[in-house]
Amino acid sequence: MRWSKTFIPTLRDDPADAEAPSHVLMLRAGLIRQLAAGIYSHLPLGKRVLHKVEAIVREEMDAIGALEFFLPALTPAEPWKESGRWDEIGELFRLQDRRGSDMCLGFTHEEIFTSLARGDVRSYRDLPQIWYQIQIKFRDEPRPKSGVLRGRQFIMKDAYSFDLDTAGLDRSFDRVAQAYHRIFERCGIDTLAVEASSGVMGGSESVEFMSFSDAGENWVVRCGGCGYAADLEKAESLPSRVEDPDDTRAPEKFPTPGIRTIDQLAAFEGGAPGERQVKTLVYVVAGEPALFLLRGDHELCDEKLVEVTGSTDVRPAHPDEIRAALGASAGSVGAVGVTHLPIWIDTALRGRRGMTTGANADDFHLRHVDVERDVRDPRWVDLRSAVAGDACTRCGKPLEFQKSIEVGHIFKLGTRYTEKMGARVLTAEGVEVPIVMGSYGIGIDRTVAAVIEAHHDANGISWPLSIAPYQVEIVPVGASDEAQARAAEELYAELGALGLEVLLDDRDERAGVKFKDADLIGIPFRIVIGPRGLAEGKVELVCRATGSRDDVPIGNVAAELEDRMQA
Ligand code: ATP
Ligand code: MG
Repeated sequence: MRWSKTFIPTLRDDPADAEAPSHVLMLRAGLIRQLAAGIYSHLPLGKRVLHKVEAIVREEMDAIGALEFFLPALTPAEPWKESGRWDEIGELFRLQDRRGSDMCLGFTHEEIFTSLARGDVRSYRDLPQIWYQIQIKFRDEPRPKSGVLRGRQFIMKDAYSFDLDTAGLDRSFDRVAQAYHRIFERCGIDTLAVEASSGVMGGSESVEFMSFSDAGENWVVRCGGCGYAADLEKAESLPSRVEDPDDTRAPEKFPTPGIRTIDQLAAFEGGAPGERQVKTLVYVVAGEPALFLLRGDHELCDEKLVEVTGSTDVRPAHPDEIRAALGASAGSVGAVGVTHLPIWIDTALRGRRGMTTGANADDFHLRHVDVERDVRDPRWVDLRSAVAGDACTRCGKPLEFQKSIEVGHIFKLGTRYTEKMGARVLTAEGVEVPIVMGSYGIGIDRTVAAVIEAHHDANGISWPLSIAPYQVEIVPVGASDEAQARAAEELYAELGALGLEVLLDDRDERAGVKFKDADLIGIPFRIVIGPRGLAEGKVELVCRATGSRDDVPIGNVAAELEDRMQA
């Protein structure tokens, strides 16, 4: 490809509204342009990279025997209503057709693949199956961010496995996980597979593939001792220990005028520090109020709320609902003496006594609370987010926190969709059973951004060879110099004939501009043709990743490149 014949609109300066390096560089290198918040156009250079990532994904999925499909992005509401997700997913893009029928744009495709399986998979003999597609997904994200890292329309490779039983699911899950490790490695990023929360997908177990980067929105919680690793949304941890006084007195109500928050009570004379308070939160779960108790200085993890209650229909109670349930405002409520509401309690409160909590009367709190003695029939669960200073539940070593990009996520769904939607098969014994499913996603454009996060410097992108838009860029220094132009053309033809992907910068631009652009778009190998070298029959071979520069006789360039590409 000649630069003059393609379209690479590079930008000299950093765009004002971009922060993440990958976002800045994708705009500056002319890979993408924004159409609306979270909605991007992929330009020719960007499209070539997508194409390469998709090719790697296809090769590795095909290698485990997965079959490629292409399902509609525009889907009727019925399957989503059957699975229950029509009302569950806040980010669903809903619309109506001209007849007023409800429809939506694919958020993922569990429902649609399940309806296919329901129609056409009848017998255990048809199983196992792994089906995949590379498709656009639509999500009305509350906070689209960082370019294609969190878009409202993005490209996903989604896959679904169908097995007769959970042992089969375990095998399919492992096969896909292995394929994912190979995919990300071939794309040039290190990923860590971590335990994750299953959220609106549901199912029993899920694993995320994380690429460490400050541009990510997830936190990986990792133990340096035993190797335990989980998304913060899922991570279990041992909180810092608190020594309680030997307080066996009965709960005592005391006035706390105007005190509504943990911090206010901590600063109040006669109050208690955060770690000696019980925080009481009221949520409405599937229409019913319930209490959630945490140590005062701990934070509730929303995903764990969904996980422990098994419902995605969970929201904080409104002030009037709190008053109706407990007779006080949010800052004065507590669980002592409560028998009419379900109580979920974080395990960090086990054995705690001499605690302070709300008294279910405005401007009053209770002290001398012994949690296990005074809170009636609570359900002990893990509700809180791990924090720095926490220790590993398995080996006691300190936990580390690393910001990460979630590039892939795989789920053991079990029969959640197939039972609701009636996708069954006959076993060898002639019994009808629901198909056991897994679901597996990779964000294609998010992966491209994650690769850039891992491979760039102050001057621009530095593509791994495997997904670079071109492998070699030829830059004649003096555009109008005939000898240089001729040498460039000859090399361009020679390398092209060898099957290399070559970009020739044939623009009539100053050398400085071409070099800056070359650094910015980050083609792995650059061949610079200048007057001095050429007089000796030599060109300069520059490696973008290492910065190495070597004079190479023109006749040896092809062999030298092939050598380096093999390495
Ligand atoms: P997140 O937690 O980042 O919102 P998710 O858990 O909702 O993602 P999944 O439903 O697991 O996402 O989707 C599978 C994969 O699709 C993710 O691992 C990610 O690579 C990609 N993905 C999800 N949402 C987006 C998005 N808004 N923009 C770009 N890629 C996305
Ligand atoms: Mg996910």
